[in-house]
Amino acid sequence: MEEQKKESISFENGKWITPDHPTIPIIYGDGIGPEITAASVSIIDAAVAKAYNGSKGINWLRVEAGEEAQKKYNTGLPEETLDTIKAYKIVYKGPLTTPVGSGFRSLNVTLRIMLDLYANIRPVKYIEGLDSPLKYPEKVDMVIFRENTDDIYTGIEWPYNSAEAEKVREFLKTSMNVNIDPDAGIGIKPIGKAKTQRITRMAIKYAIENGRKSITVMHKGNIMKYTEGAFKDWAYEVAQKEFGDKIVTEEELYSKYEGKIPQGKILFNDRIADNMFQQIITKPELYDVILAPNLNGDYVSDACGALIGDIGVLGGANVGAEGGMFEAAHGTAPKYANKNVANPMGILKAGELMLTFMGWTEAAGLISKAVEKAMKERKVTPDIARFMGVEALGTKEFAQYLVDAIKSA
Ligand code: NAP
Repeated sequence: MEEQKKESISFENGKWITPDHPTIPIIYGDGIGPEITAASVSIIDAAVAKAYNGSKGINWLRVEAGEEAQKKYNTGLPEETLDTIKAYKIVYKGPLTTPVGSGFRSLNVTLRIMLDLYANIRPVKYIEGLDSPLKYPEKVDMVIFRENTDDIYTGIEWPYNSAEAEKVREFLKTSMNVNIDPDAGIGIKPIGKAKTQRITRMAIKYAIENGRKSITVMHKGNIMKYTEGAFKDWAYEVAQKEFGDKIVTEEELYSKYEGKIPQGKILFNDRIADNMFQQIITKPELYDVILAPNLNGDYVSDACGALIGDIGVLGGANVGAEGGMFEAAHGTAPKYANKNVANPMGILKAGELMLTFMGWTEAAGLISKAVEKAMKERKVTPDIARFMGVEALGTKEFAQYLVDAIKSA
């Protein structure tokens, strides 16, 4: 255990402290999961070996979950798996089938709560060669920080004809003179200051550490003043009070700096949600880090993903002050399982993000460059080859191409 502890990633005030040989639990997943996860691991290992000449390396620790575990232990989520992830606070995860039926605990929800993974992060960057609906897709390079624990996702809602809804209606009418139609379902949208401010801190730190140029708060504060409007105000408060020397607001940009972002500063601004949707399509080059409450973040993540033409190549993470879970945006695509045709890029991109959080940015950069090279040379799996009109590589051959590209970089 002493040995294990030494080799765990640890966290100090939200900062990741990564030993040279960290142990990282890995779930291979269901459907195409095992193939794409194995492919991605071979590429990540090659990038780490190349970047650090063998002085660093990941000890992958396989843990069981999903269909495999269901058969063996009669649960998709054995306690041992949860205990291991809890001990290491991090997991690299292939997609899992969502079983239909009652009594099932979603791994994502369980881990999110267990490790308090409050930020859902999704980088979206165009890769040359993909078939995007945009005229200039190369302008798309954004990272979305979606708050993961607050907003209407807390699930406080009642059917229109329930006793609870009736009670709420009655309370609002008698105590506050507010009328709600008797045929209306009722939901509650809590957005809190502490939850808003911790994700704002994380987004700003990420922007500083990764040389991003702006952070835009996406909100509907003109209508929902005390939830979405407060999210915006609390985000500005953190930006100005805690990172005043690092950020510049839009107002300051024009009053002090003639519209030019000063060297070493990050623009901190906000956009109303509906405007944000048209802005990311018409002027994607103006947007970089996007910070949003839960529901806006959900919508804008997929909208941004669509801009690059293929959400199958997107990876993401759920991250907290202490820990993270890294996975592809897509699911198990069962019809492609065991056929050596699935694209490993989504889970690979999640791995690249994990390396970035670990501080192993040189290895992350090598993966990014190798993927760009593959797309340029049209070395792709069938899902992309069908749009490019080129011959496809299998999952294993595509992974080998990337490993070779990294080795010869
Ligand atoms: P899906 O697995 O994402 O697959 C939908 C379609 O996307 C596939 O038919 C295929 O499209 C394409 N696709 C996705 N990933 C691909 C890849 N790596 N390579 C090539 N093509 C890929 O969504 P689903 O069919 O709705 O869900 C299947 C299962 O996955 C469900 O049990 C669901 O609950 C689960 N799921 C799990 C997660 C997770 O673990 N985080 C996330 C989402 C879904 P074409 O048919 O056009 O070729």
